[in-house]
Amino acid sequence: MIKMNRMLVLFITLTLVGALIAGCTPAPENGEEEDVGAETVFISIATGGTGGVYYPLGGAMAKIFNENIDGANANAEATGASIANVQLIEDGDAQLALIQNDISYYAFEGIEMYDEELDEGKGKQLSLRGMATVYPETIQIVAHGDSGIESVEDMVGKKIAVGDVGSGTEANARQILAAYNITYDDITPDYLSFAEAADNLRDGHIDAAFITAGFPTAAITEISQVSNVTLVPVSQDVIADLKTDYPFYTGVEIPAGTYKGQDEVVNTVAVMAMLVVPADLDEDLAYNMTKALFENLDVLAAAHDRGADLKLETALDGMSIPLHPGVQKYFDEVN
Ligand code: GLU
Repeated sequence: MIKMNRMLVLFITLTLVGALIAGCTPAPENGEEEDVGAETVFISIATGGTGGVYYPLGGAMAKIFNENIDGANANAEATGASIANVQLIEDGDAQLALIQNDISYYAFEGIEMYDEELDEGKGKQLSLRGMATVYPETIQIVAHGDSGIESVEDMVGKKIAVGDVGSGTEANARQILAAYNITYDDITPDYLSFAEAADNLRDGHIDAAFITAGFPTAAITEISQVSNVTLVPVSQDVIADLKTDYPFYTGVEIPAGTYKGQDEVVNTVAVMAMLVVPADLDEDLAYNMTKALFENLDVLAAAHDRGADLKLETALDGMSIPLHPGVQKYFDEVN
């Protein structure tokens, strides 16, 4: 009780001091906003879960903007990832988002999960504009060593983390399972973030997890250190089918030793992570954001290995939607 009262006194004191300080600030003249230098520019960066790669890279981007753009107040937000981020851009709630290039293409064109004929298909998401593609996001299928899962076919009847609600991972999981003629009716799907999937794998609550992210992915690195997990390959013929059916998949190898206990190269598919801005983003701001990123690549590289993949020469490889004019202006200037 005494403790409560002390807390209350402290709270009231702080509130009063705060009010006093505010009261001492000279009032702006003529009702105009007080001039505190450049106008504040809020930049909300939509990333993914904390166990992924979008999140630390988004944090590094926020730092770059805050240090290099006048008045910038940038923040990286944790989200459900790609599909949730499309919505945040459409709704004007994010000024920059990390999104898989396959998902931004489906969204812009109104196909696949955005097909308006579908129950939840939202139709064309025309406010998306491209800034740059960044790095390959690899579809990593992680199985518990005791699950008996050595190939995707073995997933039938098992409990599988298919990605968070609103993630691009979840779309990839569905497409890859379908390529093996497996649907969600054949497995028990669990919609988990990467960090939740890792915890559940460790505790034996799920048998395997799909993780679409740049490698090494923190959630997999962490679980491979404490549990017996393996990476499940996608077979070469299925990789070929996926590439035919979905133009944004490429075949990739996860090098041996990427994770603890992984002694062999693992074949799978990848898409690209890309940066997306809203069409109505101020042209100068889009230009300044692009310039700031390309002039501070070392900050991105320090945040995650995959941050080092952003390069002017490859920034338009796999670009699946039109560029923002402010971004185009920057590329025209430096090329
Ligand atoms: N590509 C993932 C998704 O959209 C997120 C990856 C990450 O968080 O690094 O589902």
